[in-house]
Order: sequence, then C-alpha cells, then structure tokens
Amino acid sequence: MRRTVMAVVLALSVALPAAGVAGAVDAPASGSGSYVGVEYFPEPDGEGARTSVPVNSPHAQPETPARHRTPVASEDGEVVPLAETGPTADRLDVTIVGDGYTAAEQEDFLQDARTKWDEVTDIEPYRSYEGLFNVWAVKAVSEESGVTGDPGRDDVRNTALGSYFWCSATERLICVDLDKTKSYADKAPATDLVIVISHSAKYGGAGYSGLAADYGYDGVSTLSSDNAQSTLIAAHEMAHSIGLLADEYQYAGYGDHPGPEPAYPNASMLTADRMAAQRAKWASWLGEADPSGGTVGTFEGADYYEYGVYRPTRNSLMRALNTDEFNLPGREAMIAGFYRSANALTPLVDTTVTVSRFTPLSVELADLDTGLAGIRLRWYVDGREARQARGMTTVLPATLGVPAGRRAHRVTATVVDTTSAVRSPVVRDLTSNSVTWTVTR
Ligand SMILES: [Zn+2]
Repeated sequence: MRRTVMAVVLALSVALPAAGVAGAVDAPASGSGSYVGVEYFPEPDGEGARTSVPVNSPHAQPETPARHRTPVASEDGEVVPLAETGPTADRLDVTIVGDGYTAAEQEDFLQDARTKWDEVTDIEPYRSYEGLFNVWAVKAVSEESGVTGDPGRDDVRNTALGSYFWCSATERLICVDLDKTKSYADKAPATDLVIVISHSAKYGGAGYSGLAADYGYDGVSTLSSDNAQSTLIAAHEMAHSIGLLADEYQYAGYGDHPGPEPAYPNASMLTADRMAAQRAKWASWLGEADPSGGTVGTFEGADYYEYGVYRPTRNSLMRALNTDEFNLPGREAMIAGFYRSANALTPLVDTTVTVSRFTPLSVELADLDTGLAGIRLRWYVDGREARQARGMTTVLPATLGVPAGRRAHRVTATVVDTTSAVRSPVVRDLTSNSVTWTVTR
C-alpha cells in the first residue's frame, strides 16, 4: 500500500494527535539539563551498548519568534503521507522527521524517508505486516545541510532538530533534541513511533525508548540517511517499542542475572527443559530451525547479563547488527505488538447507528502478506455463524439470515490472523477483532 497517497497536507490543517495520547502532558516534563537512557551500536555489524544522554541538543536551531518569521511560504512542518493504509485508530503510525536538510533539500528528505522505510519493511515481520502501518513524513527545514559531527568531531551545523554524532563522546551515537523532535512529530495526524533521519552518509544512530509518559509515543530512533547499515538500528529499536523485546546481548563483567524472571518475551531464567516442562516463554518454538541460523533453544547471556539468563537463539537482530533476521520468538512478540496498536478489520459502515436488513455492510481488511491462510473473516447473526459469508467483505443482513420483524438482531464480523508465525493462543487472540451492528426490520 505504500506510495499510494502523495497528497501534501499543510501542517496547520492537521488535526491534533489521536485521543490515545490524551494522557500525555503538554510540555515534556524533562527539560534542559535532563538526561535519558539511549542505546547505540558502536560498530556496524556489532552488538549494542547503552548510555545516558541529554534530552536537549546544543546544536538545535533556536525557535524564530512568530513576528520575525519571513512571510514567504515555508515547507517547515509540512506533513506528507508516505503510506496511508487505514484510519490512525486501526494502524501503527510511524512519523519520520528529517534533520540537516535545507529548504532546497526537502525532496531529498522525502526520497530518503521512502528508501529507509522500504529497507525496514524488507525485514520480517515488518515485511508481512507493512499493511498495518501508516507512515507520515514531516519536513523540518534546517539552516544548514548535514549534521554536527560529520565528517569531523568539530564540524558544527545549525539544524532543525540539532542531531549530532559524537554524542556522549561516542562517534557513532547520534543524539537529537527530543523536545524539538516532538514539536515536529506532533504535526502528524498520529504518532506511535518516531524515526529521525539525520542527513549524513556516515554510519550512526541511536534508540530512545520508554518515552511515552513524557512525549506521548514510546520510542525515537535516529539513523543516518545515506548509510544502509543504519537501517538496522531503526529495525532493532522499533522492536523494543513494538515487541517489548529485550536486548539479546550481554556485557563482559555484568555477571549473574539477579532475578526475578524478566517480563521480556525473549529473555528467561529457565533452561530449555524447564521451559518446555512449564510451557513458558518460547517453549512452543524450542527445536525449530530459526531464520537467524541454528536452532531455537536457550543460549546463556541476555538482557545485558552474562549468566543465569537465556536468549532464544545464538544470534539475531536483537543481539547484533550483523544479521537482519529476528528470531521466531521475537517475531511472534512483534506481531503481538502490531496488534496491540493496530487491527486488521475496519468497518466501512458506522456501527453506532441501527441499520436495516437491506443495508449493505462492508468491512475492509488490512493488506497483509501473512501466508496462505492469511486473515480469516467470518460473519455471525446473534452469535451464530453465517457460514455462506466466509471471507466476504460486503454482506446484506437479510441474506445472512436476519429475519424480518420488530426484534433487533446483531450482525458481527470477526477476523483472526492465522499466520504460522504465531503459536501462542494468547497472541492469536490479540490478532482477532470484531465489529457489530444492530439490525432491525
Ligand atoms: Zn536494543
């Protein structure tokens, strides 16, 4: 579905963020001088690391007071839908903001945003579930082209979001001004995750997560625009926010996991035999050949600890950026996450008004690529299946078997994702969704 809609939406005409973020504060609680945790990958092909970095950037452009703004129309803050697959309430909304692109380079930014999203969605399970995502590009006009720290540590640029290499004295760590980023991301119709593309060919990036309380969305990934390996940083970071996945790497000297059992779906203190006996965590995948290579089992070292905690596979994209494969338990957890924020069934007829027996009822299914069986759609009248309507996206209540008469009846459409990438009944339930109409006469 990507690239189907290319209309330009003026930022000022865009509605406020969806009701889902209503609990978020207006101004982030974390102000100047605050620090947040961030993850980065010191070497392409390598394992990750974590550190603490400032919320704000010394390199961000100061806000121009409204009265001093040039009257010339500026693209700054314009929203361009790169993929609009469904209503924001039924989709994961990814907002991509560019930094280090001048007014003359905004088309470059849009092209880079499309390329990056195409690269992310070459990776499973993003590939199969691309149809559950909306993607919004927000133009941020920078005074200067490129970002601070490229090519050299002392190269400083004045940019909209102030993104910079050499954050926390680490060359490949690209930090960004989180408050500036929010001011642009908030122009999109809805935002579940943010990707900042920093205009640079040098390898680098970072992942901020757990931001929901202060910013209204969980994660911000930074990555450099013209470096293919930086794409894997975004794929990895989004998996933390979406799939609630642990890092599958460990630090030398970090020692024993202190317990209790971690909540992460891909880290456990149980060895394979105990996991199988308790049918816990990834028990249903044990022994399977994994796309990351090798077999699903329990491999010691995960969630930063060296001992007493296990990951599902020897390697995976949650361990190091030398592979673009998530392991099977990780994929299932991400699919669960997709369906926590999105769903595959959208009613095309208002469910809040009573309809007649002869009102055509239509639904739209997300365009997914989840295998032969795919999304299963079924219809019910007062809880009883109308088997003749299996898979139909438009039905007439009368033909489904709703009888004439004064009594009101319920017509329900239900979908479930039958993908073989899901084995847990709990996750299968998450993939299911229903809509119901009241029908009379
Ligand atoms: Zn990570």
